Amino acid sequence: MTAPDSIPDIASNLAEVQRRVLKAASDAGRASSAVTLVAVGKTFGPERIEPALVAGQRVFGENRVQEAADKWPPLRSAYSDLRLHLIGPLQSNKVKRAVELFDVIETVDRPKIAKALAAALGERARQVSCFLQVNTGAEPQKAGVLPEAADDFIGFCRDDLALPVRGLMCIPPLDEEPSLHFALLAEIARRNGLDGLSMGMSADFDVAIAFGATHVRVGTAIFGARAPRAASTAQA
Ligand SMILES: *Cc1c(COP(=O)(O)O)cnc(C)c1O
Repeated sequence: MTAPDSIPDIASNLAEVQRRVLKAASDAGRASSAVTLVAVGKTFGPERIEPALVAGQRVFGENRVQEAADKWPPLRSAYSDLRLHLIGPLQSNKVKRAVELFDVIETVDRPKIAKALAAALGERARQVSCFLQVNTGAEPQKAGVLPEAADDFIGFCRDDLALPVRGLMCIPPLDEEPSLHFALLAEIARRNGLDGLSMGMSADFDVAIAFGATHVRVGTAIFGARAPRAASTAQA
């Protein structure tokens, strides 16, 4: 547990991450505007989020619907141009709530959720776009469609359900070389004509940008280390 008096210098962490994003983009011959930094503030309260907002950061990620509902409405009133991404698993009974809270849902991972999302979006005018999550490492405990099922799932979401699919998202296995997974995700997106690639976290966002990431999801490098969550707590 981090003591309140050891709040890191979030503005300077953020500036350093932004500098690395620009460098990685420029090294890869990509425009800096091609990469969006999604600041992942999960587990942290407004005392750590606000310094990032004050420093100009406007795109944030949360992995739980309830936590976002508790935390973000007051911040949204103060910063009307902020954009919130859901980056954690979504259950069908929380889809309606999720489309009220989030601008981008990055974790559409199965037909049931895709259908529930299409129905919820049909009922409201708010613009919400989505990424489809691919389980590039075929890990049994991890969400996402398997790579071999990705083309069909993309077609189903985009053509049958008319979901606003911006791209693909992955979380590589912890113990494997992430670049293999970034390359695989980029290849699936390319052959399906999708531009968006949400990949790369604190440990590997530079590599992800070299492989074409359009969205990097960075928590620890900006906000500091998180206290571990209780393992039994329900997801999203
Ligand atoms: C927590 C989380 C991140 C950020 O991870 P860091 O290693 O702290 O940068 C990125 N993506 C997802 C899906 C997460 O749950």
